Amino acid sequence: PLRSSANVDTIKEKTLAIIKPDGVNGNYVDVIKKTILGSSFSITQEMQLQLNVNTVKSFYAEHASKSFFSGLVQYMTSGPVVIMVLEKENAIADWRALIGPTDANIAKVTHPKSVRAFCGLDLQRNCVHGSDSPQSAAREISFFFEKSSSAIVSQHDEL
Ligand code: GDP
Ligand code: MG
Repeated sequence: PLRSSANVDTIKEKTLAIIKPDGVNGNYVDVIKKTILGSSFSITQEMQLQLNVNTVKSFYAEHASKSFFSGLVQYMTSGPVVIMVLEKENAIADWRALIGPTDANIAKVTHPKSVRAFCGLDLQRNCVHGSDSPQSAAREISFFFEKSSSAIVSQHDEL
């Protein structure tokens, strides 16, 4: 069947976004959500959580051997986070591009319009998370949002 170019099917993709404790504490939740929605993502799921140590260790298991791991666990458990599933075509790469490089100080120089540039503080306190691949996105979304979630979500507050 013929399809007009204005009616081409788009393959939507999902990614996991987290507004980290420095972002929530700095009152950046609303501006980040406006940025997300203004960049054609839909927010299909959302919850606010106080993460515990075991949840963060499991979520960031790939970094367990890194020197910054204990600091990362301390940081990510230092206050509530807002966890969201974002959906659009090319969501994974587009959200990574929108947040900018890991080090917020570098982001301020190289990607001044990125989310990490406007709300991040440094290499660790970079305000937001984004899944880095389709495999990570699938793992991270089910980690927080499936019924058999690995995360301890019993204390969550739905927004
Ligand atoms: P991301 O995918 O851009 O978030 O970066 P990574 O997956 O490499 O690291 C996970 C998180 O650990 C980052 O977002 C930072 O919060 C923190 N992090 C990464 N590298 C470092 C580092 O070298 N030092 C410190 N203190 N924190 C880091
Ligand atoms: Mg990463």
